[in-house]
Amino acid sequence: MIAVETFAGKTVAVFGLARSGLASVRALKAGGAEVLAWDDKEPLRDAAREAGAKAIPWTEWPWDRLAAVILSPGIPLTHPKPHDVVVRAREWDVEVIGDIELFARTVTRVPVIAITGTNGKSTTTALIGHILTQAGFDAQVGGNIGQPALALSAPGPKTIYVLEISSYQIDLSPGLAADVAVLSNITPDHIDRHGSLENYAAVKMRLLKQTKKAGLNVVGVDDAHCASIFTRLSSNGGAPSVGVSVGKVLGRGIFVLDGVLYDAEHERTTKVMDLKTASHLPGAHNWQNAALAYAAVKPFVTNTGTIASAITSFPGLAHRIEDVGCIGKVRFVNDSKATNADAAERALVCFDDIWWIAGGRPKAGGIVPLEPYFSRIRKAYLIGEAAEAFAETLQGKAEVVISGTLDAAVAAAAADAAKSESNAPVVLLSPACASFDQFPDFERRGDAFREIVAKLRLETA
Ligand code: ADP
Repeated sequence: MIAVETFAGKTVAVFGLARSGLASVRALKAGGAEVLAWDDKEPLRDAAREAGAKAIPWTEWPWDRLAAVILSPGIPLTHPKPHDVVVRAREWDVEVIGDIELFARTVTRVPVIAITGTNGKSTTTALIGHILTQAGFDAQVGGNIGQPALALSAPGPKTIYVLEISSYQIDLSPGLAADVAVLSNITPDHIDRHGSLENYAAVKMRLLKQTKKAGLNVVGVDDAHCASIFTRLSSNGGAPSVGVSVGKVLGRGIFVLDGVLYDAEHERTTKVMDLKTASHLPGAHNWQNAALAYAAVKPFVTNTGTIASAITSFPGLAHRIEDVGCIGKVRFVNDSKATNADAAERALVCFDDIWWIAGGRPKAGGIVPLEPYFSRIRKAYLIGEAAEAFAETLQGKAEVVISGTLDAAVAAAAADAAKSESNAPVVLLSPACASFDQFPDFERRGDAFREIVAKLRLETA
């Protein structure tokens, strides 16, 4: 844990006591602050009490002596409208910040790599952590992935913090000056919480504007918003920026062509590695993540060979095109994180002969945008609330069965794939749906898939 001493002897209130809120309570207490805390949920208030906070409803807080409110990133700061607690804090001129800001005010002399963007944050963050670990650093990986930032270990001589930062967290972290900031891409998402796509892009850009002058910004330049941010940053007088592209040759920067990673940061363009050798980073979207990670670790790891072999040995993240092994010739792939068509598309492009498990609670538009990939689907096994509608979309374009449950779908898909003539059959769970109709979250859905496959393996052994 990281003790936050900047509020020693002062009174600070924490609002929203999920993981990062509780970590803030502990870190502030360890640093000698008096901590008040509130959450609608009783068990979370109990946990805060156990951590040493006083659980007091926010309406009864002593506003005249509060030094700060630590707001959970899940609570609206601006859009659709500020939460009442934020309005009250403004009336009393009490600053409203987040756990990452506490981290930033405390950890000032140790390198921090901050990763944001619409997609690929977790993969890029985990990959950067893996490369740094392989290179002998003590990579402390957290933030919006895994452990909250303040729950990470206190720094040692070889520590580098690698933090995934959501746009909500940027809003609450005006003082986070990263050594390296990474922006992967920007596509419409969370617009409800940021008012407009322009606002959302502006928030993302703010993280990069805050980067230390002697640091580095790494920007994926393949979408219009990020390309514009890259151009604006270059004339901003802040940290230098390096552009990263998949599919475009950059005169200067890092790029990937046909899966090969090139470094054109200096006079000569050099070939770094063939990313197709990284079996746990399949698909062009992962090439973007790998190229971003490569650019981000370069200031710390000078040996390119070390970076390349770490990219190759990256074990991948659970639930994202995760290879969960083979039974006979049939490969099973868990892409439970694909909760919309856009994400499922990234998995469908990776394989040629797919026995596809899809469905759950559908999103607007369903799987209509996936039609260009239906020719790769040998048969679809549909589950959950979306089954009927998806069957209609697939009708006449791919063989379909309504399986209902994940259990039934995996059993049927495994049997059909094993009997097929394909040399490389893949049973792919890439649901293009939320999980909430049948599972508490996408992680539990992916875990269930993995367990069903493990059971099948035992039965067929
Ligand atoms: P995040 O943490 O930003 O949600 P993840 O690394 O967890 O990102 O990936 C989530 C999903 O987003 C993946 O399953 C994949 O479908 C998609 N994805 C990952 N990386 C990228 C990328 N660079 N560009 C576009 N989509 C991506």
